Amino acid sequence: MGVFDDLGDFARNVSNKAVGAANLGKISVNIKLEQSKIEEIQRQIGAYYYERHLNGLPVDSDIEMYMEQIDAINENIAALESEKRSVKGEYNFDGKGVRYCPNCGVKLAPGSNFCTNCGRSVN
Ligand SMILES: [Zn+2]
Repeated sequence: MGVFDDLGDFARNVSNKAVGAANLGKISVNIKLEQSKIEEIQRQIGAYYYERHLNGLPVDSDIEMYMEQIDAINENIAALESEKRSVKGEYNFDGKGVRYCPNCGVKLAPGSNFCTNCGRSVN
């Protein structure tokens, strides 16, 4: 084998390695894609069982603790949503919407029938 043959082999080898690396990247992406499909199906399985739990249907006792964890998280979310509405000033802490006097525009106390500023009936 001559020098040029060796160089040819070297170039082919480098080229094959580059193609190989590019293919490896594609293969890795495809593996991740397949794995994400499994994760989505697993999520759906979880959602299926949680739906059963919400509808009072029997759920395997082994997964009941996960259902209770989701229940607790949902309660946290509801409390945070309520807090968010309060911070935004749209609702009072009792969850009812904040009302303003249609006559003078003063913010009304929750459950009030009259404006404390102008005396207008707001019931
Ligand atoms: Zn008023």
